[in-house]
Amino acid sequence: MNVVLVGPPGAGKGTQAAALEEKTKLKHIASGELFRQHMRDETELGKLARTYVDRGELVPDDIVITMILERIFQPDCEHGVILDGFPRTKEQAAALERALEEHQQKIDAVIFLNAPRDVLLKRIVGRQTCRNCQTPYNIYYSPPREEGVCDLCGGDLYTRSDDNMETARHRLEVYLQQTAPLIEHYRALGLLHEVDGLGDIHEVTARLVRELGINGELPHQPRT
Ligand code: ADP
Ligand code: ADP
Ligand code: ZN
Repeated sequence: MNVVLVGPPGAGKGTQAAALEEKTKLKHIASGELFRQHMRDETELGKLARTYVDRGELVPDDIVITMILERIFQPDCEHGVILDGFPRTKEQAAALERALEEHQQKIDAVIFLNAPRDVLLKRIVGRQTCRNCQTPYNIYYSPPREEGVCDLCGGDLYTRSDDNMETARHRLEVYLQQTAPLIEHYRALGLLHEVDGLGDIHEVTARLVRELGINGELPHQPRT
């Protein structure tokens, strides 16, 4: 089973993808996180990505597509993936569909997660992420028990370089122009599930689980 999560920055894609990964055999693949890893490691790809990420612009399609397609056919993705933050353009969506088809696979469901703009902005500027295990926290909505320290692994929490108000506003614009059109594309394909991203994190997870028709123990289905 392959699930795509689409939604504006701050909608809760990363949070919900992690929750789904816990409940299923699906592997959570986050394009933004892959870039941040390269940026931390100061690879050539990381240096290039930083020039886009820090401005809130999309990294060029060919670079993102190569990186993601290389990742999702690795053995640890054999039961399927939850794609978080990819595809973000029509070109990326087309490349994904082509590649899955070549591997006799498909997208099984697309979740469109959304929340009002003021909530998105507050979630983005309040976000803190664990340097070690990448768990997201929020200084307004879900603070860690101890300031600056991950509840789960004790790692340091940091604020992403692109999570400031100015870049966040720009990312929302970029989302509306370049990514939002994908929603109609997936609706037309009959794959779209709209999920309200507002409310308690667990409540939102329950909505997703219901939409996907999976329950606690599932799925053991082979990837289709
Ligand atoms: P995205 O991956 O879509 O940008 P995240 O999952 O990283 O979003 O969430 C953005 C921020 O909002 C994080 O700080 C996260 O802890 C917080 N958050 C996510 N879901 C909720 C929710 N349902 N209620 C309150 N805060 C949330
Ligand atoms: P969020 O979900 O909060 O918007 P992400 O972690 O998904 O943040 O993405 C952070 C940044 O990484 C984006 O603003 C963009 O610069 C880059 N990025 C991530 N995914 C893609 C993608 N599919 N295409 C182009 N750029 C991407
Ligand atoms: Zn941690």
